[in-house]
Amino acid sequence: MAGVVRWLEDLSRKGADLVIQCCACGHDRTVAIGHALDIFSRRRWSTDWWDAHRRFRCRKCGSKDVKLDADFYGHAVRRQRKPATLAVVEERLRPGLWPPPPGVALSEWNRATEAERKRLVDRARS
Ligand SMILES: [Zn+2]
Repeated sequence: MAGVVRWLEDLSRKGADLVIQCCACGHDRTVAIGHALDIFSRRRWSTDWWDAHRRFRCRKCGSKDVKLDADFYGHAVRRQRKPATLAVVEERLRPGLWPPPPGVALSEWNRATEAERKRLVDRARS
């Protein structure tokens, strides 16, 4: 599959993401191609497919013997959506805090400093 890929941008054009597979331990991970291209452009690295192999190392064992491949199934994209889903999980009251006064969001209450919390309570009372 990678045989027809000459540049990292080719993956982007085909809507595929980048798979980095370790030849030493077999570990692989998928990186969103947009994210990879960002890094390459920021560091002014060549996006030549074979040059790009030198830029990665295995996260698990540290080996630089990696093989790049294309992921057409959007694994990286799916993985990236996860944090967003987690973010909507209901926020809990920080331990040691009184519940917020009515009309004050829990997230705001948790983040506020003591002085800000006082102000929020005053505001709720008035
Ligand atoms: Zn490895």
